[in-house]
Amino acid sequence: LRNLVIVLGDQLDLDASGFDGFDAATDAVWMAEVVEESTHVWSSKPRTAMFLAAMRHFALALQAAGRPLHHMLLDDAANCGTLAAQLQADIARLRPAGLVITAPGDWRVLQAIKAVAQTSGLPLDIREDRHFYVTVREFAAHAKGRKSLRMEYFYREQRQRHGVLMQDGQPEGGQWNFDADNREAFGADGPGEVPARAGFEPDAVTRDVIALVNSRFADHPGQLDSFAWPVTREQALQALEGFIAQRLPRFGRYQDAMWPGDPWLYHSHLSAALNLKLLNPREVVTAAEAAYRAGQAPLASVEGFIRQILGWREYVRGIYWTRMPRYADLNALDACEDLPAWYWTGATDMACLRDALAQTLAHGYANHIQRLMVTGLFALMLGVAPQQVHSWYLAVYVDAVEWVELPNTLGMSQYADGGLMGSKPYVATGKYIQRMSPHCQDCRYDPAQRTGHRACPFTTLYWDFLMRHEARLANNPRMVLQVKNVARLSDEQRQAVQERAAQIRCGHVGHG
Ligand code: FAD
Ligand code: SF4
Repeated sequence: LRNLVIVLGDQLDLDASGFDGFDAATDAVWMAEVVEESTHVWSSKPRTAMFLAAMRHFALALQAAGRPLHHMLLDDAANCGTLAAQLQADIARLRPAGLVITAPGDWRVLQAIKAVAQTSGLPLDIREDRHFYVTVREFAAHAKGRKSLRMEYFYREQRQRHGVLMQDGQPEGGQWNFDADNREAFGADGPGEVPARAGFEPDAVTRDVIALVNSRFADHPGQLDSFAWPVTREQALQALEGFIAQRLPRFGRYQDAMWPGDPWLYHSHLSAALNLKLLNPREVVTAAEAAYRAGQAPLASVEGFIRQILGWREYVRGIYWTRMPRYADLNALDACEDLPAWYWTGATDMACLRDALAQTLAHGYANHIQRLMVTGLFALMLGVAPQQVHSWYLAVYVDAVEWVELPNTLGMSQYADGGLMGSKPYVATGKYIQRMSPHCQDCRYDPAQRTGHRACPFTTLYWDFLMRHEARLANNPRMVLQVKNVARLSDEQRQAVQERAAQIRCGHVGHG
């Protein structure tokens, strides 16, 4: 055997760089389903099922393409349980002359594979991942010499460099950013007729995986009754087509809105397909731009959507790979509380959190605002240790891969990197949630109250957060107003906030 081409669960693309020069006569593909990937964080059933179902379908695609494959199944009695041990065992058996891999998405996995290559004395050819517009080297060059990093400038550079939504060297429509036209809440009548989600009935392969996950990971969080994610490239392309035609026109307008019991709204639900490489971001961006040029979607929506992929998605990857491994341990606010146990069950009487957690556990999905301004915001203001928050986000979502999850959680949501990802902590009272959703109408708490038995925990914790970090935040020009407001509180008011916050931390408030 000449080369063993390692394919990880998030590298499911027949055209990946790892396959460049692949010769079926001398090379073979290696894939392994190992329990470690579902237990190093307490991976939810939807997340594990997503990866395994997509891997098994990819194995079929490899067979159809005539590429020899060594695929260790999770339930095989000979399974070694970890990627490293399995690879080591298969190298001993297959005796390849070299190892080839497309650059992995996890720092941990890269280290493990490098260590196996070294122990085995085999050359390891790590190839650029073509699923990104920007290489890690290019990002490092962009970041070099800048005092602070901001997504906005990075994004503009990418628009110019790749000629996306540009007109004669200028941004389409004369502006880089149309946020002011976006981000509305739904009116009192709700979202109305939202197009049905592109759901895919599990076939026999996926049904086997669902049964396996339900038995092998029975005590893991989440449910599989409504599993309908795209698990093949064909399905992912269908999901993309459906989004562009039906949801994209209203994506921007309702990007930040929430509605109880409707997880899908006008979002694309393409993150898992993108992260597992069933879709290439270029085809997603191109399809969105084409819809704008054909007059099928307004510029504000299309720009807002493209910004997420060409901007945020590329940016967080650059941060991850230029800052790891130290990044994972950052804790700029010295947060040390435990994550409440009900994050894993949804058993809380805070209506907004209950809804976000219920759909997270049912589908492995929540939209960005629920992740940032509901589950993330609460953990930030409660003061939960960022590494615990990180373990939760990496475990529960079908799209969770560390390169994208970690900077979003630790940086954007928890401010644990001290302002590298975002220029200020995203903190708000319950009134933000009240503006963006009708949740507060059905909640026993009142977002307008800061103290007392009906005070919304978000509102109490907002003031408590500002009080706890007053000195640090006073130096942040973007926090001036908020810090001024907290400075106005009397000693009695401060004490009342602290007492209520202490009750919330002890779990006397917010339990279902
Ligand atoms: P849409 O709203 O339709 O957006 C379109 C696409 O843009 C997404 O599919 C995604 O690929 C990309 N995108 C949007 N926002 C971001 C972002 N902030 N960073 C990177 N890409 C983005 N995204 C993940 O893919 N995996 C994660 O594990 C993950 N963890 C997150 C944790 C926290 C605390 C927060 C605040 C955000 C996280 N995100 C993560 C980003 C974002 O919330 C999800 O990408 C998005 O909600 C996925 O749903 P969608 O496909 O319907 O996205
Ligand atoms: Fe959430 Fe507070 Fe509104 Fe209840 S009152 S739904 S806890 S924001």
